Amino acid sequence: MTSKTIHEALTWASSFLEAHQCEPKVAEILLLHELNWTKTDLITRLRDTMPEADWLTFSKQISTHAETKVPVQHLTGVENFYGRSFHVNQHVLIPRPETEELVQYVLQHMNNSVHSGVDIGTGSGVIAITLAKESRPSLKMLATDLSEQALQMAQRNADEQQAAITFYQGSFLEPLIMEGKKVDMIVSNPPYIAYQEADTLDETVRLFDPELALFAKENGLYAYQQIISQAPQVLNEGGPLFFEIGHTQGEAVSALIQAQFPAYQTNVIQDINGKDRIVHGYIIDP
Ligand code: GLN
Repeated sequence: MTSKTIHEALTWASSFLEAHQCEPKVAEILLLHELNWTKTDLITRLRDTMPEADWLTFSKQISTHAETKVPVQHLTGVENFYGRSFHVNQHVLIPRPETEELVQYVLQHMNNSVHSGVDIGTGSGVIAITLAKESRPSLKMLATDLSEQALQMAQRNADEQQAAITFYQGSFLEPLIMEGKKVDMIVSNPPYIAYQEADTLDETVRLFDPELALFAKENGLYAYQQIISQAPQVLNEGGPLFFEIGHTQGEAVSALIQAQFPAYQTNVIQDINGKDRIVHGYIIDP
């Protein structure tokens, strides 16, 4: 094969992806990852020759993505979240921008009496790790997940980000209840899609994100029911709850919180697309 310039490789990849109804910008993400370049490198070095080995890997990844629709994050093994790079694989949900909004909301709305928190269903660990890193003073974060493989990924991410998170394997808050642990705040982006909605999901999501991370019984409300009913055993008096929700679940999740914690107020907050995305349960300071 005659050697290609970076520019030629990128042009080929973008049109190949377009021809397969894929996002052409995936080409740039995979190219930068393969070459370990920044965007500035790319702009200034478009006429460089692409090393043969890199071309082979890159062109193979482009065809795999186009043919199987495997998410680009599974090819690169990483996703950016709140300005940090996190390892991901098929055992964890690929972190979403909506969850960055949840984290930002929590950082802005937890009050000074919150010193510790738990992230339930931590997956890649993005929520727990980002909250531990971004809070001042730094929160003591605990995190739970049912999946051992997810916890391995979360631990790897925590180590790399130098975040001291305590991980527990188990269902929702059960491991904390068993160990008698208490926290000042509960945060979770639990599985919230109803099984009967599986058909409406994007193929990439349905095929590649873990089922455990996506779906919940009881019309998608099962995780909230479990977490909220277990919460009184773990949550210190008056501590806030923050949930990511599906866009139709605001009322139902608020009602669950109010039934369990009659003194609490709830707010439903919209995401950047104007869809209900966060429920905040809190007590008004006396
Ligand atoms: N807490 C992780 C995230 O928000 C995983 C969530 C999940 O698997 N439902 O990305």
